[in-house]
Amino acid sequence: MTTGTLNELKPFLGATRAAIRELPLYNSGLSIDYVRKHYGVEKIAKLGSNENPYGPSPKVIAAVASAAAEIGLYPDASCDSLRAVLAGYLQVAPEQLIFGNGSEDLISVAVHTFLSPGDQVVTFAPSFGLHVIWPQSVGADVATVSIGVDYKMDVDEVMAALTPGVRMLLFGNPSNPAGTSISAEDLRSILNHLTPETLVLFDEAYLEYAMADPSYPDFHSILAEFNIPWLMLRTFSKAYGLAGLRIGYAIASDPEIIQLMDRVRAPFNVNRLAQIGAIAALEDRGYVDSVVTRTVAERERMRAELELMGDTAAPSLTNFLFLDARTNASEIARRLLPGGVIVKPWMEPAFNTHIRVSVGSREANDQFLAAWKALAR
Ligand SMILES: *Cc1c(COP(=O)(O)O)cnc(C)c1O
Repeated sequence: MTTGTLNELKPFLGATRAAIRELPLYNSGLSIDYVRKHYGVEKIAKLGSNENPYGPSPKVIAAVASAAAEIGLYPDASCDSLRAVLAGYLQVAPEQLIFGNGSEDLISVAVHTFLSPGDQVVTFAPSFGLHVIWPQSVGADVATVSIGVDYKMDVDEVMAALTPGVRMLLFGNPSNPAGTSISAEDLRSILNHLTPETLVLFDEAYLEYAMADPSYPDFHSILAEFNIPWLMLRTFSKAYGLAGLRIGYAIASDPEIIQLMDRVRAPFNVNRLAQIGAIAALEDRGYVDSVVTRTVAERERMRAELELMGDTAAPSLTNFLFLDARTNASEIARRLLPGGVIVKPWMEPAFNTHIRVSVGSREANDQFLAAWKALAR
């Protein structure tokens, strides 16, 4: 067998479309193993990926373990059992739901289903990387509207960006990385301004945390008031603690949206154990509630400790804090690594002095706070 040399491959690689060759690589964060090996530290505070430090419910672990012997069989391609449970829980038609290998998968499926090269997309900045990278991968033009220094969205600026012909408006709410939410009134203004030419993709990955605040609006009901196409994304990766299992879902305004996405997704995109784990997770609400309560308490403790050091984090409805280090964020993140602390530095030019730190276990949060305090800034 012979393998092609780089030169022989050049005509092939060079013919790859520019949208792919010029695409940035998603920054998926450093692993515990990597930091252990490179810095020789044993105890790692992994606070860069918004993982749930308490893990899944023990009932999920039991359900997944007892199904492990069945992994010789393909999973149910349409997730029927999970679909029925979730549709009942959300009070939506089963046909309005689609499942993915994490909700990231569904961002990709939606983008590849509905966008063509040259289409216009609007999102907010700072943004979740994949909200920009996936549309760019199909050659769409992504315009970003920046939140202000107060971490709030200027709704007039959003509406100005939503010119006729914009094909998709997508954003995380609460925002990753800012942790803040749009108001019900502002969302209604935006939806009033839109026509059915635009799909609204509302990524609500942190819903369960946000709901701890009684004033967090029911955005699903608000979207449903309007006669425009929308997709609402949710995940089992965060408050449910199933990030390693990979499962997320979307609710669509219309079953026709799901039917089109079903043509694009991989047929077996949700593995057998994920389907079983998700059902068990939905059936243990008490566990999720206790995760959220503990996380919110830790988050506010971290905020108060940071305040004492003169650092103000954005108001957060999530399991992370976003704060201005007032110096290069990548540099700060690098300087935290020898102490075993992993955070996510923000790279978007207007926010590149900001870091995002997840709310972890009490011990991990203390490790972060001590390392942060020790930084001479
Ligand atoms: C974490 C996160 C997701 C979820 O990703 P999964 O693929 O479900 O693990 C989606 N959107 C945003 C904004 C997130 O922060």
